[in-house]
Amino acid sequence: MEYNLDLHLHGLYSGAVSHEMKPRIIAEQALLKGLQGVGTGDILNPKWEKIFREETRLVRDEYFEYNNVRFILQTEVEDNSRVHHVVLFPSLAQVEEARKRLKGKTTSLESDGRPKLWLNTAEVADLFLELGCMIGPAHAFTPYTGYYSKYDSLEQGYKDNWRKLSFLELGLSADTDMADMIKELHNLSFLSNSDAHSPWPNKLGREFNTLKIEEISFEELRKAFHRMGGRKITRNIGLDPREGKYHKTRCRNCYTFYEPEEAEQFNWRCPLCGGVIKKGVDHRIKELADLPKGEHPEHRPRYIHIIPLSEIISLALKKKNPYSKEVQETWKKIIKETGTEIKALLDTDLETIKKINKRVAEYLEYFRKGEIQYIPGGAGMYGQLIPPGEKVEMKTYKSQTAQKTLMDF
Ligand SMILES: [Zn+2]
Ligand SMILES: [Zn+2]
Repeated sequence: MEYNLDLHLHGLYSGAVSHEMKPRIIAEQALLKGLQGVGTGDILNPKWEKIFREETRLVRDEYFEYNNVRFILQTEVEDNSRVHHVVLFPSLAQVEEARKRLKGKTTSLESDGRPKLWLNTAEVADLFLELGCMIGPAHAFTPYTGYYSKYDSLEQGYKDNWRKLSFLELGLSADTDMADMIKELHNLSFLSNSDAHSPWPNKLGREFNTLKIEEISFEELRKAFHRMGGRKITRNIGLDPREGKYHKTRCRNCYTFYEPEEAEQFNWRCPLCGGVIKKGVDHRIKELADLPKGEHPEHRPRYIHIIPLSEIISLALKKKNPYSKEVQETWKKIIKETGTEIKALLDTDLETIKKINKRVAEYLEYFRKGEIQYIPGGAGMYGQLIPPGEKVEMKTYKSQTAQKTLMDF
Protein backbone atom coordinates (compact mmCIF):
# COMPACT_ATOMS: atom_id res chain seq x y z
CA MET A 1 0.00 0.00 0.00
CA GLU A 2 1.03 3.60 -0.47
CA TYR A 3 0.57 6.14 2.31
CA ASN A 4 1.14 9.87 2.50
CA LEU A 5 3.02 10.96 5.61
CA ASP A 6 4.14 14.29 7.01
CA LEU A 7 6.62 13.45 9.75
CA HIS A 8 7.58 16.77 11.28
CA LEU A 9 5.21 19.20 12.93
CA HIS A 10 4.93 21.09 16.19
CA GLY A 11 2.53 21.00 19.11
CA LEU A 12 0.97 23.63 21.30
CA TYR A 13 4.08 24.11 23.47
CA SER A 14 6.52 25.17 20.75
CA GLY A 15 6.93 28.86 20.00
CA ALA A 16 4.57 30.60 17.56
CA VAL A 17 2.20 27.66 17.27
CA SER A 18 -1.51 28.08 16.55
CA HIS A 19 -3.73 27.36 19.58
CA GLU A 20 -5.77 25.17 17.26
CA MET A 21 -2.86 22.79 16.76
CA LYS A 22 -4.51 19.90 18.62
CA PRO A 23 -4.58 16.21 17.74
CA ARG A 24 -8.21 15.92 16.62
CA ILE A 25 -8.04 19.05 14.47
CA ILE A 26 -4.73 17.86 13.00
CA ALA A 27 -6.30 14.49 12.14
CA GLU A 28 -9.35 16.08 10.51
CA GLN A 29 -7.24 18.46 8.46
CA ALA A 30 -4.76 15.72 7.54
CA LEU A 31 -7.59 13.73 5.95
CA LEU A 32 -8.74 16.76 3.95
CA LYS A 33 -5.18 17.27 2.78
CA GLY A 34 -4.85 13.59 1.86
CA LEU A 35 -2.45 12.38 4.55
CA GLN A 36 -2.91 9.08 6.37
CA GLY A 37 -0.05 9.56 8.81
CA VAL A 38 1.61 12.48 10.60
CA GLY A 39 4.20 12.99 13.28
CA THR A 40 2.92 13.84 16.75
CA GLY A 41 5.41 16.73 17.04
CA ASP A 42 6.93 17.60 20.41
CA ILE A 43 6.25 14.21 22.03
CA LEU A 44 8.98 14.68 24.68
CA ASN A 45 6.72 17.28 26.26
CA PRO A 46 4.59 15.40 28.85
CA LYS A 47 1.75 17.91 28.61
CA TRP A 48 1.52 17.37 24.86
CA GLU A 49 1.50 13.60 25.38
CA LYS A 50 -1.34 14.03 27.87
CA ILE A 51 -3.45 15.85 25.26
CA PHE A 52 -2.88 12.94 22.88
CA ARG A 53 -3.93 10.46 25.57
CA GLU A 54 -7.12 12.45 26.14
CA GLU A 55 -8.07 13.08 22.52
CA THR A 56 -6.86 9.97 20.69
CA ARG A 57 -6.26 6.24 21.14
CA LEU A 58 -2.83 4.79 21.89
CA VAL A 59 -2.17 1.61 19.90
CA ARG A 60 0.50 -1.00 20.88
CA ASP A 61 2.27 1.76 22.89
CA GLU A 62 3.55 2.71 19.42
CA TYR A 63 1.33 5.33 17.81
CA PHE A 64 -1.75 7.42 18.49
CA GLU A 65 -4.77 7.12 16.27
CA TYR A 66 -7.80 9.28 15.60
CA ASN A 67 -10.23 9.02 12.71
CA ASN A 68 -7.92 6.47 11.04
CA VAL A 69 -5.05 8.96 11.02
CA ARG A 70 -1.94 7.58 12.69
CA PHE A 71 0.42 9.76 14.68
CA ILE A 72 4.00 8.47 14.75
CA LEU A 73 5.83 9.45 17.96
CA GLN A 74 8.04 12.33 16.85
CA THR A 75 9.91 15.36 18.11
CA GLU A 76 12.47 17.89 17.04
CA VAL A 77 15.39 18.69 19.36
CA GLU A 78 18.08 21.38 19.34
CA ASP A 79 21.65 20.49 20.31
CA ASN A 80 24.29 22.73 21.92
CA SER A 81 25.48 23.91 18.49
CA ARG A 82 21.87 24.99 17.81
CA VAL A 83 21.48 22.25 15.20
CA HIS A 84 17.97 20.79 14.83
CA HIS A 85 17.28 17.07 14.51
CA VAL A 86 14.08 15.13 13.80
CA VAL A 87 13.62 12.08 16.04
CA LEU A 88 11.10 9.24 15.64
CA PHE A 89 10.45 6.89 18.60
CA PRO A 90 9.57 3.18 18.46
CA SER A 91 7.34 3.35 21.55
CA LEU A 92 6.04 5.59 24.28
CA ALA A 93 8.18 3.60 26.75
CA GLN A 94 11.24 4.86 24.87
CA VAL A 95 9.90 8.42 24.97
CA GLU A 96 9.68 8.05 28.76
CA GLU A 97 13.19 6.57 28.90
CA ALA A 98 14.53 9.49 26.83
CA ARG A 99 13.01 11.94 29.33
CA LYS A 100 14.85 10.15 32.15
CA ARG A 101 18.17 10.18 30.34
CA LEU A 102 17.76 13.85 29.50
CA LYS A 103 17.36 14.88 33.15
CA GLY A 104 19.94 17.58 33.85
CA LYS A 105 20.79 17.79 30.16
CA THR A 106 18.03 20.08 29.01
CA THR A 107 16.23 23.31 29.91
CA SER A 108 12.73 22.05 30.45
CA LEU A 109 10.80 19.37 28.66
CA GLU A 110 7.58 20.75 30.16
CA SER A 111 7.80 24.32 28.92
CA ASP A 112 9.37 23.63 25.54
CA GLY A 113 8.03 21.84 22.51
CA ARG A 114 11.41 21.59 20.84
CA PRO A 115 13.78 21.11 23.80
CA LYS A 116 17.30 22.50 23.82
CA LEU A 117 19.72 19.77 24.82
CA TRP A 118 23.09 20.43 26.46
CA LEU A 119 24.69 17.77 24.30
CA ASN A 120 26.75 18.10 21.15
CA THR A 121 25.58 16.80 17.78
CA ALA A 122 27.22 13.36 18.10
CA GLU A 123 25.99 12.94 21.69
CA VAL A 124 22.42 13.69 20.68
CA ALA A 125 22.64 10.99 18.02
CA ASP A 126 24.20 8.59 20.58
CA LEU A 127 21.41 9.09 23.07
CA PHE A 128 18.54 8.53 20.65
CA LEU A 129 20.20 5.72 18.69
CA GLU A 130 20.77 3.82 21.94
CA LEU A 131 17.04 4.01 22.55
CA GLY A 132 16.31 2.49 19.14
CA CYS A 133 15.01 5.78 17.70
CA MET A 134 15.48 7.03 14.15
CA ILE A 135 17.22 10.35 13.75
CA GLY A 136 18.28 12.74 10.99
CA PRO A 137 19.02 16.42 10.51
CA ALA A 138 15.97 18.72 10.27
CA HIS A 139 15.79 21.25 7.38
CA ALA A 140 19.45 20.38 6.86
CA PHE A 141 20.58 23.40 4.82
CA THR A 142 18.87 26.38 6.45
CA PRO A 143 20.89 29.13 8.14
CA TYR A 144 20.74 29.39 11.97
CA THR A 145 19.71 25.83 12.87
CA GLY A 146 20.29 23.61 9.85
CA TYR A 147 23.00 20.95 10.23
CA TYR A 148 25.02 22.22 7.26
CA SER A 149 25.05 25.77 8.58
CA LYS A 150 27.45 24.46 11.26
CA TYR A 151 29.21 21.56 9.54
CA ASP A 152 30.69 20.74 6.14
CA SER A 153 30.17 16.98 6.21
CA LEU A 154 27.95 14.46 7.98
CA GLU A 155 30.93 12.95 9.73
CA GLN A 156 32.14 16.28 11.10
CA GLY A 157 29.15 16.70 13.41
CA TYR A 158 27.68 13.24 13.83
CA LYS A 159 31.09 11.52 14.06
CA ASP A 160 30.73 7.73 13.65
CA ASN A 161 26.98 7.99 13.94
CA TRP A 162 26.66 9.52 10.50
CA ARG A 163 26.30 6.06 9.00
CA LYS A 164 23.39 5.34 11.33
CA LEU A 165 21.23 8.27 10.25
CA SER A 166 17.87 7.13 8.90
CA PHE A 167 17.10 10.19 6.78
CA LEU A 168 17.88 13.80 6.00
CA GLU A 169 15.07 16.33 5.95
CA LEU A 170 15.37 18.64 2.93
CA GLY A 171 13.45 21.61 4.33
CA LEU A 172 11.20 23.90 2.35
CA SER A 173 14.03 25.75 0.59
CA ALA A 174 15.64 22.67 -1.02
CA ASP A 175 14.61 19.67 -3.11
CA THR A 176 16.29 16.48 -4.33
CA ASP A 177 17.83 18.15 -7.41
CA MET A 178 19.68 20.50 -5.09
CA ALA A 179 20.62 18.04 -2.34
CA ASP A 180 21.87 15.39 -4.77
CA MET A 181 24.65 17.76 -5.81
CA ILE A 182 26.31 16.53 -2.60
CA LYS A 183 27.73 13.05 -3.04
CA GLU A 184 27.82 12.05 0.62
CA LEU A 185 24.01 12.26 0.64
CA HIS A 186 23.43 9.83 -2.20
CA ASN A 187 22.96 6.82 0.02
CA LEU A 188 20.65 8.60 2.46
CA SER A 189 16.86 8.75 2.10
CA PHE A 190 15.40 12.25 1.93
CA LEU A 191 12.30 13.36 3.76
CA SER A 192 10.12 16.28 2.76
CA ASN A 193 8.09 17.35 5.82
CA SER A 194 6.02 20.44 6.57
CA ASP A 195 7.43 21.56 9.96
CA ALA A 196 3.90 22.95 10.37
CA HIS A 197 2.99 25.29 13.22
CA SER A 198 -0.71 25.29 12.39
CA PRO A 199 -3.06 22.50 11.29
CA TRP A 200 -4.53 24.17 8.20
CA PRO A 201 -3.73 22.45 4.90
CA ASN A 202 -1.68 25.34 3.52
CA LYS A 203 0.81 24.48 6.30
CA LEU A 204 0.13 20.88 7.34
CA GLY A 205 1.33 18.62 4.51
CA ARG A 206 2.74 21.51 2.48
CA GLU A 207 5.55 18.96 2.18
CA PHE A 208 5.06 15.21 2.66
CA ASN A 209 6.33 11.79 1.58
CA THR A 210 4.59 8.87 -0.10
CA LEU A 211 5.77 5.53 1.28
CA LYS A 212 5.23 2.02 -0.04
CA ILE A 213 4.76 0.08 3.20
CA GLU A 214 2.47 -2.58 4.67
CA GLU A 215 1.09 -0.29 7.37
CA ILE A 216 1.98 2.95 9.11
CA SER A 217 4.24 1.79 11.92
CA PHE A 218 7.72 2.60 13.19
CA GLU A 219 9.17 -0.65 11.87
CA GLU A 220 7.65 -0.22 8.40
CA LEU A 221 8.96 3.35 8.25
CA ARG A 222 12.41 2.11 9.23
CA LYS A 223 12.36 -0.44 6.43
CA ALA A 224 11.25 2.19 3.92
CA PHE A 225 13.96 4.70 4.90
CA HIS A 226 16.62 1.97 4.72
CA ARG A 227 15.04 0.46 1.58
CA MET A 228 14.49 -3.04 2.94
CA GLY A 229 12.04 -5.77 1.91
CA GLY A 230 10.57 -3.78 -0.96
CA ARG A 231 9.55 -0.91 1.30
CA LYS A 232 10.55 2.51 0.05
CA ILE A 233 9.77 6.17 -0.37
CA THR A 234 8.02 6.43 -3.74
CA ARG A 235 7.82 10.22 -3.98
CA ASN A 236 8.76 13.39 -2.15
CA ILE A 237 6.25 16.17 -2.49
CA GLY A 238 6.81 19.75 -1.49
CA LEU A 239 7.07 23.41 -2.28
CA ASP A 240 9.19 24.71 -5.09
CA PRO A 241 12.37 25.64 -3.19
CA ARG A 242 11.92 29.21 -4.40
CA GLU A 243 8.88 29.46 -2.12
CA GLY A 244 10.96 28.52 0.95
CA LYS A 245 11.99 31.15 3.49
CA TYR A 246 15.74 30.66 3.11
CA HIS A 247 16.21 29.81 -0.56
CA LYS A 248 18.15 32.88 -1.73
CA THR A 249 20.78 35.11 -0.16
CA ARG A 250 19.04 38.25 1.09
CA CYS A 251 19.37 41.05 3.64
CA ARG A 252 17.51 40.19 6.83
CA ASN A 253 16.42 43.80 7.25
CA CYS A 254 15.56 45.21 3.79
CA TYR A 255 15.34 41.85 1.93
CA THR A 256 17.58 42.99 -0.93
CA PHE A 257 18.86 40.02 -2.96
CA TYR A 258 22.61 39.48 -3.09
CA GLU A 259 24.77 37.37 -5.33
CA PRO A 260 27.09 35.21 -3.19
CA GLU A 261 30.15 37.15 -4.43
CA GLU A 262 28.56 40.48 -3.51
CA ALA A 263 27.69 39.21 -0.02
CA GLU A 264 31.30 38.06 0.47
CA GLN A 265 32.61 41.37 -0.79
CA PHE A 266 30.49 43.30 1.74
CA ASN A 267 31.39 40.86 4.52
CA TRP A 268 27.72 39.83 4.91
CA ARG A 269 26.62 43.36 5.89
CA CYS A 270 24.07 45.08 3.67
CA PRO A 271 25.67 48.31 2.37
CA LEU A 272 22.17 49.71 1.76
CA CYS A 273 20.81 49.43 5.29
CA GLY A 274 23.47 47.90 7.53
CA GLY A 275 21.45 44.71 8.07
CA VAL A 276 22.90 41.20 8.19
CA ILE A 277 22.94 39.32 4.89
CA LYS A 278 21.79 35.71 5.31
CA LYS A 279 23.26 32.99 3.15
CA GLY A 280 20.62 31.25 1.05
CA VAL A 281 20.20 27.48 0.93
CA ASP A 282 20.99 27.48 -2.80
CA HIS A 283 24.33 29.15 -2.08
CA ARG A 284 25.14 26.87 0.86
CA ILE A 285 24.44 23.77 -1.25
CA LYS A 286 26.68 25.08 -4.03
CA GLU A 287 29.49 25.49 -1.50
CA LEU A 288 29.07 21.88 -0.42
CA ALA A 289 28.45 20.46 -3.89
CA ASP A 290 30.65 17.83 -5.54
CA LEU A 291 28.57 17.90 -8.71
CA PRO A 292 27.50 20.90 -10.82
CA LYS A 293 24.01 19.45 -11.16
CA GLY A 294 22.03 17.02 -9.01
CA GLU A 295 22.67 13.46 -10.19
CA HIS A 296 20.18 11.10 -8.60
CA PRO A 297 21.13 7.69 -7.30
CA GLU A 298 18.98 4.80 -8.57
CA HIS A 299 16.82 4.65 -5.42
CA ARG A 300 15.94 8.36 -5.28
CA PRO A 301 12.20 8.89 -5.82
CA ARG A 302 10.91 11.73 -7.95
CA TYR A 303 10.24 15.07 -6.31
CA ILE A 304 6.93 16.72 -7.15
CA HIS A 305 6.55 20.45 -6.54
CA ILE A 306 3.23 21.64 -5.23
CA ILE A 307 1.65 24.90 -4.14
CA PRO A 308 -0.93 24.83 -1.34
CA LEU A 309 -4.40 24.97 -2.93
CA SER A 310 -5.51 27.98 -0.89
CA GLU A 311 -2.51 29.91 -2.25
CA ILE A 312 -3.48 29.04 -5.83
CA ILE A 313 -7.05 30.15 -5.10
CA SER A 314 -5.78 33.40 -3.52
CA LEU A 315 -3.70 34.13 -6.59
CA ALA A 316 -6.61 33.36 -8.94
CA LEU A 317 -9.07 35.50 -6.96
CA LYS A 318 -6.52 38.26 -6.29
CA LYS A 319 -6.89 37.91 -2.52
CA LYS A 320 -3.84 38.55 -0.38
CA ASN A 321 -5.02 36.43 2.53
CA PRO A 322 -5.44 32.67 1.98
CA TYR A 323 -7.59 32.57 5.14
CA SER A 324 -10.12 35.08 3.77
CA LYS A 325 -13.72 33.92 3.58
CA GLU A 326 -13.97 33.77 -0.20
CA VAL A 327 -10.78 31.71 -0.54
CA GLN A 328 -11.77 29.33 2.23
CA GLU A 329 -15.26 28.82 0.81
CA THR A 330 -13.90 28.06 -2.65
CA TRP A 331 -11.39 25.67 -1.05
CA LYS A 332 -14.18 23.83 0.75
CA LYS A 333 -16.28 23.52 -2.42
CA ILE A 334 -13.34 22.01 -4.28
CA ILE A 335 -12.48 19.55 -1.51
CA LYS A 336 -16.13 18.50 -1.26
CA GLU A 337 -15.87 17.51 -4.91
CA THR A 338 -12.37 15.96 -4.92
CA GLY A 339 -12.12 14.50 -1.41
CA THR A 340 -8.59 15.72 -0.71
CA GLU A 341 -6.39 18.69 -1.54
CA ILE A 342 -3.69 16.46 -2.99
CA LYS A 343 -6.19 15.01 -5.50
CA ALA A 344 -7.35 18.51 -6.44
CA LEU A 345 -3.77 19.61 -7.02
CA LEU A 346 -2.46 16.60 -8.91
CA ASP A 347 -5.24 14.43 -10.34
CA THR A 348 -8.68 15.96 -10.60
CA ASP A 349 -10.01 16.73 -14.08
CA LEU A 350 -9.97 20.50 -14.57
CA GLU A 351 -13.54 20.36 -15.92
CA THR A 352 -14.66 19.47 -12.40
CA ILE A 353 -12.91 22.55 -10.98
CA LYS A 354 -14.24 24.75 -13.79
CA LYS A 355 -17.79 24.04 -12.62
CA ILE A 356 -16.85 25.49 -9.24
CA ASN A 357 -14.73 28.44 -10.36
CA LYS A 358 -13.39 29.11 -13.84
CA ARG A 359 -10.49 31.29 -12.77
CA VAL A 360 -9.32 28.81 -10.15
CA ALA A 361 -9.40 26.06 -12.79
CA GLU A 362 -7.30 28.28 -15.06
CA TYR A 363 -4.73 28.87 -12.29
CA LEU A 364 -4.70 25.21 -11.38
CA GLU A 365 -3.77 24.54 -14.97
CA TYR A 366 -0.96 27.12 -14.79
CA PHE A 367 0.28 25.37 -11.66
CA ARG A 368 0.22 21.93 -13.28
CA LYS A 369 2.14 23.24 -16.29
CA GLY A 370 4.71 24.89 -13.99
CA GLU A 371 3.89 28.36 -15.30
CA ILE A 372 3.41 30.14 -11.98
CA GLN A 373 6.38 32.41 -11.27
CA TYR A 374 8.14 33.25 -8.02
CA ILE A 375 9.95 36.03 -6.30
CA PRO A 376 12.22 33.67 -4.36
CA GLY A 377 12.25 33.66 -0.58
CA GLY A 378 15.25 34.36 1.63
CA ALA A 379 16.42 35.62 5.05
CA GLY A 380 13.17 34.43 6.66
CA MET A 381 10.72 35.73 4.08
CA TYR A 382 8.69 33.21 2.09
CA GLY A 383 8.82 33.31 -1.69
CA GLN A 384 5.97 35.11 -3.40
CA LEU A 385 3.79 33.71 -6.20
CA ILE A 386 3.44 35.80 -9.35
CA PRO A 387 0.84 35.00 -12.05
CA PRO A 388 2.14 33.88 -15.46
CA GLY A 389 2.85 36.78 -17.80
CA GLU A 390 3.31 39.34 -15.04
CA LYS A 391 6.72 40.91 -14.59
CA VAL A 392 8.76 39.47 -11.73
CA GLU A 393 10.51 42.36 -10.04
CA MET A 394 13.34 41.43 -7.70
CA LYS A 395 14.99 44.04 -5.52
CA THR A 396 18.58 43.01 -6.18
CA TYR A 397 21.65 44.88 -4.98
CA LYS A 398 22.51 45.68 -8.60
CA SER A 399 19.07 47.04 -9.47
CA GLN A 400 18.97 49.09 -6.26
CA THR A 401 22.33 50.73 -6.78
CA ALA A 402 21.71 51.28 -10.51
CA GLN A 403 18.59 53.26 -9.58
CA LYS A 404 20.52 55.30 -7.05
CA THR A 405 23.16 56.24 -9.60
CA LEU A 406 20.44 57.39 -11.99
CA MET A 407 18.87 59.52 -9.30
CA ASP A 408 22.21 61.03 -8.43
CA PHE A 409 22.40 62.51 -11.91
ZN1 LIG B 1 13.72 23.18 13.26
ZN1 LIG C 1 19.56 45.67 3.80
